[in-house]
Amino acid sequence: MKTLKRFVLVGGPASGKGTQARYLAQAFGLHTLSTGALLRQEIEACSDLGRQAQSFMDRAMLVPDEVVNDIVRGWLSNNDETPWLLDGYPRTVAQAETLDSFMRERGLGVDVVVWLDVARELIEARMLKRKECTKCGLITRDGEMVCPDCGSGMRVRADDNLEAFARRWQDYEALTVPVANYYEAKGLAVRVRVTEEGEPEEVSLRISQKLKEFAE
Ligand code: ADP
Repeated sequence: MKTLKRFVLVGGPASGKGTQARYLAQAFGLHTLSTGALLRQEIEACSDLGRQAQSFMDRAMLVPDEVVNDIVRGWLSNNDETPWLLDGYPRTVAQAETLDSFMRERGLGVDVVVWLDVARELIEARMLKRKECTKCGLITRDGEMVCPDCGSGMRVRADDNLEAFARRWQDYEALTVPVANYYEAKGLAVRVRVTEEGEPEEVSLRISQKLKEFAE
């Protein structure tokens, strides 16, 4: 039985990574670093790093490897002893190689990589159904016309558009799927393919089951 302490979560844009990261963190007692969330915090705080990242994120582009590698290295140096999950990193093979060499220097390694492989059509359909209340900001996922909380009109979010999505998907296929393949070749990847709409809890159960088999 393998002990799983260091997790990487790989998945496409809007694949439900954040939700599954929360389940995994809870189930395995992990400390999570989400590079996307951290970059958004930096943007809000108007830091130098935030300004640098924003110019890329506004255009739905990946932030350069060096910038993200530095952030992750800093975080990992403070978390040698803690079981952790990296959500949204590595996103390119260059980032994966950096992570590997950094871990090797410390005599450590990634234990398992969960690949949340959600079909593109499913994500697109989800995104177009997702709506935001024009008044109270509530987000719903069933295409409601009227807000269930305050009764105001609902609209599609500005960033949930097919054009920005197409760009992010292209990066995912060209740069991030090779990361999943890189770990598959090392025998570290657990792939969970999602092709039908369902509850996030069902996906999380499938991930747990596959992780159990992986660890045996
Ligand atoms: P999503 O995967 O749904 O696009 P994330 O919150 O994971 O959302 O990431 C948001 C944005 O942050 C990405 O589109 C990218 O611009 C940037 N980002 C996050 N992680 C990385 C990374 N490892 N390398 C480069 N850019 C990143």
